[in-house]
Amino acid sequence: MAGKIKEISAQDFKSEVLEAKCAVVDFYSTECPPCEALAGKYESLSLIYGDDVKFIKIFRQENRALAEELEVSGSPTVLFYQQGKLMDERLTGGIRRTDLMKNLDQLLAPERAEELKKKIVSKERECEVLILGGGPGGLSAAIYAGQAKLDTVLVDIALPGGQVSTTHLVSNYPGFIEPQPGFMLSHYMSEQAKGAGVEFVTAVDVSEVDLEKKEILVDGFERIRAKKIILATGASPKPLGIKGEREYKGQGVSYCATCDAKYYQGKEVIVIGGGNSAIEESLFITRFASKVTVVHQFAELQANKQAQQKAFSNNKITFIFEHEPREFIKKNGSMEAVVEDLRSGESSTIKGAGIFVFAGMKPNLDFVGHALKRDQWGYLKTDEKMYTNISDVFAVGDVRSKEYRQITTAAADGTIAAIAIAAELA
Ligand SMILES: Cc1cc2nc3c(=O)[nH]c(=O)nc-3n(C[C@H](O)[C@H](O)[C@H](O)COP(=O)(O)OP(=O)(O)OC[C@H]3O[C@@H](n4cnc5c(N)ncnc54)[C@H](O)[C@@H]3O)c2cc1C
Repeated sequence: MAGKIKEISAQDFKSEVLEAKCAVVDFYSTECPPCEALAGKYESLSLIYGDDVKFIKIFRQENRALAEELEVSGSPTVLFYQQGKLMDERLTGGIRRTDLMKNLDQLLAPERAEELKKKIVSKERECEVLILGGGPGGLSAAIYAGQAKLDTVLVDIALPGGQVSTTHLVSNYPGFIEPQPGFMLSHYMSEQAKGAGVEFVTAVDVSEVDLEKKEILVDGFERIRAKKIILATGASPKPLGIKGEREYKGQGVSYCATCDAKYYQGKEVIVIGGGNSAIEESLFITRFASKVTVVHQFAELQANKQAQQKAFSNNKITFIFEHEPREFIKKNGSMEAVVEDLRSGESSTIKGAGIFVFAGMKPNLDFVGHALKRDQWGYLKTDEKMYTNISDVFAVGDVRSKEYRQITTAAADGTIAAIAIAAELA
């Protein structure tokens, strides 16, 4: 095993972990993309912290009883121990290097943690194509660039997949007769890009993005410089900006039905919005919830006709039209939405165990400054080959100004940008 890492099994847990001064334990599985994303970070941090903290790996599938005893239910899960005592914070899923370091630092005296940081050696990496964002737009560009034998690096602040990985079922992506779980579709795209030779740098912090120089800083120590940059950072749910929304995010207010609907089995929930996402996700939520109340600001739904028909014929869904939410309140563990009737101006309160917000999207562009030309909603303007106004910088997918934002249109944008780049670099 590379780095200063020791692989152990359950019988050595006491001597290697509980009797150590400080230890960090990675419960991993095979065929687990987040485990693969963690492996390089774990290894490089073991070279920095490895004299002070024992770096342990345990194969979860072969040590199930220990994993269950420690309530490890997902891979990877990283646990931190000080003098045999399990620390409160555990990391799981797409684990960032900065979060690992924060927890490792807490095992040590502050001066020692500072001293160890001096061991971090800055790295530089040159490539031909740097793609920021691993949703369908970035992944399609990666597949084409990789297959064109361009030295391509794809960087994502999370795990690859983008919005598709949190979409329950995708029924309109060509090539699949049956609806596909979103996470499987993004898995196929990622594996195809990796197979084309693209290097993935995922679950990282991205800073110091200099589009003129075509370079970025990853995790504060690795500078990546490219000939061409493709911005494929997609879009995120737009918050309503009302009182109670931020306070109860993740504790009653959600933006992702795939992630959270299962927690509302047999309960009543409220959905805010009336577009495609709101209605399709409401239909999905009815698999769990006993009742879904859709609150929409207009007199009619904006969703496509097929979704509307399904929603109107679903007896678990009721609609409150021409109302807008003004405040979310949490009382005795349950949620309330204060809504205003836009015709009369009168307020009323709707009760539910949880509230799902699907009120449109905003482009993920906080990191790029104001040199790029945008439309009135803040999306990036490009020409038909996906060039932005900055030379050698392209934009694809939902981050781009366009009429229709779908997986196919993001994939098409990524295709066009990569072919244009391949022709230029030939
Ligand atoms: C609930 C829901 C259901 C949907 N259902 C469908 C459907 O059935 N069919 C369909 O065709 N479309 C559907 N869509 C739309 C579709 O998912 C999007 O159009 C598509 O994912 C856009 O792809 P993208 O690559 O542009 O961006 P995204 O999918 O948004 O991916 C962007 C990626 O960029 C990363 N990123 C963000 N900021 C940075 C940064 N600073 N640096 C590096 N990386 C960054 C993110 O982590 C993410 O992985 C749905 C969308 C939602 C929200």
